[in-house]
Amino acid sequence: MWEKIKKILGYTWASPVTAVGLAYAGTCQLAGWYKWRGVRQDGLVWQVTDSSPNWLLYLWKTWAGHAVGNVVVLNCDPDTKLTFLEHELVHVRQCMRLGVFHPIVYGISMLAIWIACESSSPYWTVPFEVDARRTVGQVVDVEGLAAIAAKKLKSSKVDLNKN
Ligand SMILES: [Zn+2]
Repeated sequence: MWEKIKKILGYTWASPVTAVGLAYAGTCQLAGWYKWRGVRQDGLVWQVTDSSPNWLLYLWKTWAGHAVGNVVVLNCDPDTKLTFLEHELVHVRQCMRLGVFHPIVYGISMLAIWIACESSSPYWTVPFEVDARRTVGQVVDVEGLAAIAAKKLKSSKVDLNKN
């Protein structure tokens, strides 16, 4: 019973953010850019389609998904890429606990890291991402080692190309 009440309170608390997500994902669905994939746990899930314009596909190029309240948009099949779905569902639960404060605190955290923590990546270090990655067993890379390794790999490829 308490779990059910907690869920209802969470949906209500997150509803202003979810409303923004519904307007965003619904508009993209009307345009044929996103496809409705159904309800997964507490998430209302859409998937980016190949019919999206090039500029939108370009924006999604390095992203697997995002959550806006209870709305989840994935750039992959939610039934086969379960880790990405689970990651976004962690953000959904975060928003059900913080409501409208979730995007605000998320943004302020990233901004604070960007301004004050010169050696840290705002994305990799923001606590909400660390929590989501840790929950689903993804690499928690607060040192930004993956980004550093990718840069080194990229520069070594450039060097190889030059040779
Ligand atoms: Zn995330």
